Amino acid sequence: MTKAKTTLCFPDGEKSCFGCCPPIRPAGYDHLDYRGMISRMLLENTKAFNPARQDIRPITGFSCWAIGYLDESYSTVGCLLHPYRYGGVDMRYRVSFEDKCRRETCEEAKIFQALSCRAQTALLRPVKGMDSFTYSSGKANPLFRMLMWGSPLLESVANETDEAEGHLPRHNEAPFKSWNNFIRRYPFFASSLNPKAHSYIVTSIVQRLGTIFLRKDESRDELELFSAAALARIRKLGHVESGRQTWTHLLDLPKPFLDYLRLGAGIARITQEGALEIKAALDSMIATAFF
Ligand code: SF4
Ligand code: SF4
Repeated sequence: MTKAKTTLCFPDGEKSCFGCCPPIRPAGYDHLDYRGMISRMLLENTKAFNPARQDIRPITGFSCWAIGYLDESYSTVGCLLHPYRYGGVDMRYRVSFEDKCRRETCEEAKIFQALSCRAQTALLRPVKGMDSFTYSSGKANPLFRMLMWGSPLLESVANETDEAEGHLPRHNEAPFKSWNNFIRRYPFFASSLNPKAHSYIVTSIVQRLGTIFLRKDESRDELELFSAAALARIRKLGHVESGRQTWTHLLDLPKPFLDYLRLGAGIARITQEGALEIKAALDSMIATAFF
């Protein structure tokens, strides 16, 4: 968990995310499902915490004695041993989990950090008013899913102007007043497609056609049909995986395309040549279907 000016972990003084504490959790775990129990635990941890102690008490299982409320109004939740509370000194050695705690950051937080201030501010508007439990929940907070579409696509949306509608250029603020507003303006984002797997395709389309694609009701269905057709075509290319081939995510190709290969096409290992062949076929299919 990190704290800086504006981060996904600490977006403002009103709430925080504690989704990755402790770093080892069961698959699919969500704090929100255990709100009552965890609220009590946070309160007990906060009251029992003594910042002057330096002894080591290793954590076991899926809870940590060092997670608690960070402010007097019990609004923000986070690590009571974090360096920002000790003038830069990292006290997390006290749980014997120090390296895991220090390394822990989610992909969504990295994508958020890569966004411009304008895009960050826009995307934080719909989550204004959420409490820390709801904000931390991947199920209850749509921002986490949105971020997986990737920073280029989100920048296009946040920086869209009204010029196309014949108005003077004005930055895109109204859709970010609430998630309902956002989906009304960009119905595409109601798609059930995996954002990380399809970011390459959708970003390619938006870079060519503009954000108007995201604003059409029919785009969602078009994209879902396209995704199935692209997969069928790629399977016909007949790539056979073997243990001697490179892990897909290690290839020297754009990461969004590699995410498509792994998560969209289900290819875990492939040669660079094989990946390039699929990329050429996919790019050609996108151009034929949408441009
Ligand atoms: S020590 Fe801090 S960062 Fe590590 S699991 Fe506990 S609360 Fe989280
Ligand atoms: S889950 Fe992500 S956003 Fe939440 S505290 Fe961890 S790194 Fe930050």
